[in-house]
Amino acid sequence: MLTKARGFLQSYFGFDEFRQGQDAIIQKVLQGEDTLGIMPTGGGKSVCYQIPALSLRGITIVISPLISLMKDQVDALDKAGIPSTYINSTITGPEMRERMSGIYNGKYKLVYIAPERLETDYFLRVLSEIHISLVAIDEAHCVSQWGHDFRPSYLLIRKLINRIQPKPTVLALTATATPQVREDIRQLLDISVDNTVVTGFERENLRFHVVKGQDRDLFLTDYIQKNSGRAGIVYAATRKEVERLHQSLKAKGIAAGKYHAGMSEKERNSYQEKFLYDDIDVMIATNAFGMGINKSNVRFVIHFHIPRNMESYYQEAGRAGRDGEESDCILLFAPQDSHIQSFLIDQSDMDEHRKENEFGKLRKMMAYGHTESCLQQYILHYFGEEDAPVCGKCGNCTDDREQVDVTVETQMVLSCIRRMNERFGKTMIAKVLTGSTDQKIRSFGFDQLSTHGIMKDKTQKETAEFIDFLTAEGYLRPTDGSYPTLMLTELAGDVLRGKEKVMRKEKVRIAQVVEDDMLF
Ligand code: ADP
Repeated sequence: MLTKARGFLQSYFGFDEFRQGQDAIIQKVLQGEDTLGIMPTGGGKSVCYQIPALSLRGITIVISPLISLMKDQVDALDKAGIPSTYINSTITGPEMRERMSGIYNGKYKLVYIAPERLETDYFLRVLSEIHISLVAIDEAHCVSQWGHDFRPSYLLIRKLINRIQPKPTVLALTATATPQVREDIRQLLDISVDNTVVTGFERENLRFHVVKGQDRDLFLTDYIQKNSGRAGIVYAATRKEVERLHQSLKAKGIAAGKYHAGMSEKERNSYQEKFLYDDIDVMIATNAFGMGINKSNVRFVIHFHIPRNMESYYQEAGRAGRDGEESDCILLFAPQDSHIQSFLIDQSDMDEHRKENEFGKLRKMMAYGHTESCLQQYILHYFGEEDAPVCGKCGNCTDDREQVDVTVETQMVLSCIRRMNERFGKTMIAKVLTGSTDQKIRSFGFDQLSTHGIMKDKTQKETAEFIDFLTAEGYLRPTDGSYPTLMLTELAGDVLRGKEKVMRKEKVRIAQVVEDDMLF
């Protein structure tokens, strides 16, 4: 079965071998099993339904929320000699009729649609008259409220597919699924655990770095100048920041493009084309940029601000190095940036339960900025790969500052938290430790605690930062919500009992963190 599939891989796509997971997914689909495929961005998900589409009788429907990408996908398939089309709100009435009649007459092997399309009776009626062998659901995490891009229309997909006779095989695909989201996708789309194929999330050619305590503007200009001739994307949190950075790079003679939803489509497309065709090296953008941009030689992705969760971070950073060449993913980290994201979550129309979930995700993103452990391992743990090894090449693994023993300070913090009954957040804890006697501290009687003021040689900010470090390293567990209280973990118990030592990198960072030979 796979020999034929490999033949298609070579003749239509020009690749010699399947990538990890592709063969397993294709095999299951060809056997008619409803399957969930989880692969990192750039892993090669499209082939997993395009090859079965060629092998199977009838047509394959591809459900995708990314309307803007459908045309590109279809153009690429046309070039490869695979008849396909898309139906979405961007096409005119007559075009729509022509395409629908093409679908009816078996002209296409693949048809891309947005999920809402399945809700129109006319479309469903046409589907009931033709043979559909496979329904591929791209970006399947959109079905889960706990994912990072929930779309209510995805919830209807399973019910609508069930109305299609004979029953088509379903292939759900996503790049970003935590264990909780995975379970949700399986439940909502009715796919068994045995039919889940997860390929490693590791992208071997990516080197992760977190840069903190530096002037970000200077770092950015310096990095881009040192890497001139190499393509890269810089993500900023707001349109305003994109404009500002674009101007400031321009003023320094760096030709960069810009991309955000506030620009005209014409201008956006023009910059995008220039970037794709290597006319400009750098693109400054909000997260509106990049979905499905298949530019393989992106050598670096810099996040000027933190994104709202690890899913978004890994998806955006993963746009680097699709060609398998060494590439850098750099997060310019400033703890205060979480305020922008908190604000956006707070202002959103999500219900309280979902908001809490989002705050929890944001905190894990922040902990990525604070951790001193292997960054790649942190990411892989987040996505449920418990036994991921350290990578040996990320900014933290290659950080050769001396480690200092901070066990005693850690014990001070932990015992203070215990004495405060594990019911307060970072700021209050730092105040008690540094000996504040403000009204609130006194009203709780915390000025009477034996741990009051035991870290008064440090500032409140330094102490709060140390608490962030302890949280990132897993000694403290924050509760959900926007003002989390901190509780001790099992690991904290070991430290308090003197069974575990806590080591931390020396405070002073050498000015140029990402200096030449560290990166290349
Ligand atoms: P995803 O949707 O998982 O982000 P794509 O399907 O867009 O990834 O594929 C990412 C890149 O990998 C594309 O450039 C694609 O042509 C390439 N690719 C896919 N499968 C293979 C393969 N078996 N061998 C080599 N390159 C591949």
